[in-house]
Amino acid sequence: MKKKLFLNNAQVRAELGRCLNCATKPCHKVCPAGCNPNEFINLALAGKWEEAAFSILRANPLGQVCGLICPDKFCMKSCARATVDFSVNIPKVQAAILQKARNNPEFRLRNAEKLNGMHVAVVGAGPAGIAAAAVLAGRGYSVTLFEADRRIGGAMNMIPEERLPHEVIEADWDFIKNIGDIDLRLKTPVENLLSLFEGGYVGVIAAVGEPNCVGMGIAGEEFCLNYMDYLKTPERYAREGNVAIIGGGAVAADCAFTARKNGAQHVEMFVRRRFSDMKISGGEREMLLDCEIDMTTMTRVCAVTKNDNGLIVETVKTRFNKDGRLEDISDTRIKRPDFKYVVMAIGSRANEHISHDKIIYAGDCVSGSSTVVEAIASGKNAGDRLDALLSGKKTEENNICLKVG
Ligand SMILES: Cc1cc2nc3c(=O)[nH]c(=O)nc-3n(C[C@H](O)[C@H](O)[C@H](O)COP(=O)(O)OP(=O)(O)OC[C@H]3O[C@@H](n4cnc5c(N)ncnc54)[C@H](O)[C@@H]3O)c2cc1C
Repeated sequence: MKKKLFLNNAQVRAELGRCLNCATKPCHKVCPAGCNPNEFINLALAGKWEEAAFSILRANPLGQVCGLICPDKFCMKSCARATVDFSVNIPKVQAAILQKARNNPEFRLRNAEKLNGMHVAVVGAGPAGIAAAAVLAGRGYSVTLFEADRRIGGAMNMIPEERLPHEVIEADWDFIKNIGDIDLRLKTPVENLLSLFEGGYVGVIAAVGEPNCVGMGIAGEEFCLNYMDYLKTPERYAREGNVAIIGGGAVAADCAFTARKNGAQHVEMFVRRRFSDMKISGGEREMLLDCEIDMTTMTRVCAVTKNDNGLIVETVKTRFNKDGRLEDISDTRIKRPDFKYVVMAIGSRANEHISHDKIIYAGDCVSGSSTVVEAIASGKNAGDRLDALLSGKKTEENNICLKVG
C-alpha cells in the first residue's frame, strides 16, 4: 500500500532527460498557477537547482505540495513526450527540485518590495488563502492570515498522509512565510468579515473553502458519517469491520483508502456511474485497485437502516436512459447488511457570500470543489485584484514578487 513519494536522484535525472524541450511548451500553458516546467527542467539540467526551485515558487507557493498531489489532467496530460512514449513526470520532478532546495539551508526567499503601509486580511489558510497572502506580502502589504483551524492547509489536511504528509505543507509554508510581513493567526475564526475593516484592514480576501458536506436526502442518513468528520479524525474510526463509502470522486477514494488503512476488512464503494466515469486521477485509480477496494458501480444507495449487527445499505441499480441521464432500474432494490460505518462523500458547498467592493472571494468557495493548483491560481488572482484595487496600479505579471537569498 505504501508508495515512494519522492523520486531518487537517478529517477530525477532520467525524467529530466526525457523532456523534449519542445517549442510550444504546452506544460507551461496549461498550469493553472503559471508554473513553467520547461524552464525549471532546463535549469535543473544545467545543475542550477536553486534557480529551478525559485522558478517554481515564484509561480506556485505550494510547489512541493502540488508536486505530490497535482492530478494528471494538467501538465502531465499536455506533455509532448506522451506522443513518443509517456509524459515526463513533471509534478514529481517539481517535488524533487524543491526537496533539494529544502535540504540547502542557504536557500531562502525574500520580499522584492518594501512595506507599503497597508494592512490587509486574508481569511482562510488553505491553498487559496496562502497564495493570496504570498502575492500580497510579496507586493509589500502587511498581511494577517486568519485561520479557524489549529494548523494551516485547509482541505489539504484531509488528504491522507501517505499521499501528502503534513510536513510538506509546512515545508512550503516555511519558504513562503518569510517573504514579507505575514502574521499567521491559527485558531482564529473570523465571524464577521465586515468587522475586519473596523480593525484597520483596507482589504479582505475570503478564501474560506466549502465547509458544508452535501447530504443525500435519503432515509437513515443520520446513521452515516460525513467525509469531513471521517477524514479529519480518522483515528476515531479505526476499527475492524466492513465500511461502505458512498460517492465516486477523489474524496470518496481517499475515504476508501483511509478505511482500508484503518483496519477495515472489507471496503466497498457505491457509485452511481461506471468505474470509467469516476472523476479520479490515474494515481487514485491505481490506489483503489492496489487496496482491493470493492467497486459497486451503477448503483444508488436509497436508504440506510440499522439492526443489532450494524448498518444495512439499501441499493437500487442504475442505468443511463436515452438522454444520457441516470435512472433507477425498477425491481432491483436489495439490502446489504453488516456495515460498521457508512461514509457519505458526495460533495460539499460554500456558505453565502457578502457583497462588498473590498472583499474578494477566492478558491473553492467561488469555484466549487476543485484542486489545490486551481485554488492557488484563484488565490493569486484575488491577490492581484486586491492589489490593483488598493494601489490603483495594474499588475503586469501574475507572479509573486520574490528574490532569492
Ligand atoms: C479528501 C480530499 C482529497 C483531495 N485531494 C486532492 C488532490 O489529490 N489533489 C488536489 O489538487 N486537490 C485535492 N483536493 C482538493 C483541494 O484540497 C481543495 O480544492 C483546496 O484545498 C481548496 O482550497 P481553498 O483554499 O479554496 O479552501 P480550503 O482548502 O477548504 O481552505 C479553507 C480554509 O478556510 C478556513 N476558514 C473557513 N472559514 C473561516 C473563518 N470564518 N475564519 C478563519 N478561517 C476560516 C478553513 O478552516 C480552511 O482552512 C482534495 C480535497 C479533499 C477534501
